Amino acid sequence: MTLPKMNRVLLKLSGEVLMGDQQFGIDPAFVLELAQEVKAAKETGLEICLVIGGGNIFRGMAGAAQGMDRAQADYMGMLATVMNALAMQSALEQIGVQTRVQSAVQMDQVCEPVIRRRAERHLEKGRVVIFAAGVGAPYFTTDSGAALRAAEMNCDALLKGTSVDGVYDSDPKHNADAKRYETVSYGKVLADNLRVMDASAVALCRDNDIPIVVFSIREKGNLARVLSNEGVQTIVTDHTA
Ligand code: UDP
Repeated sequence: MTLPKMNRVLLKLSGEVLMGDQQFGIDPAFVLELAQEVKAAKETGLEICLVIGGGNIFRGMAGAAQGMDRAQADYMGMLATVMNALAMQSALEQIGVQTRVQSAVQMDQVCEPVIRRRAERHLEKGRVVIFAAGVGAPYFTTDSGAALRAAEMNCDALLKGTSVDGVYDSDPKHNADAKRYETVSYGKVLADNLRVMDASAVALCRDNDIPIVVFSIREKGNLARVLSNEGVQTIVTDHTA
């Protein structure tokens, strides 16, 4: 299956890809490499919205597992996504890509609040808009934030850049015979609990007919290959052709 012609996409990057080869935190050199990928994609004429996770710094569930109040831990996770958004903003602007960060948790001194019409204007002007703090509420993840922004910004697809090159029928890290899907339906992802994104994010994409493209962002040039239909990826969709 090939991807339809796209004008605007939402790129979701897991926080862990910002770590590079580190075990934690942000590797600025690797963030710069990611920024180059985004720049190359933008130069093909695409409008790009970005959502970055926070798992490289803090995950609410991990805090809760250690006895913290879950909602409080989730707010810490949201703040982690703002740090990542600022790191990516800095890298993109270093290589001449204009950006704006909009956070779902208001933080006037560091970035704009999420205002859809303003984000539209930024995209029209050729800026990359980085949406931080997910949906701005605990008990959600940045996957849900990505699905929400993809829907409200009328994106043609949600591109999920992660450490694996698609969706498998079992964990490829533990099963050498794991099979990668070329395409898979939202229903199968949900019924088989395939680890693409969390269920609320998948359901939101299904309800709004937004294809989810899962691919590895760790390989250089892969984002551009995926966008030109020459990459390795899995497309989550209910359309088969
Ligand atoms: N988070 C939240 N609400 C949101 C988005 C994020 O509470 O709308 C918190 C949650 O604790 C999550 C953390 O922020 O664990 C980091 O986001 P996520 O786990 O999605 O990051 P990723 O796995 O993509 O790196």
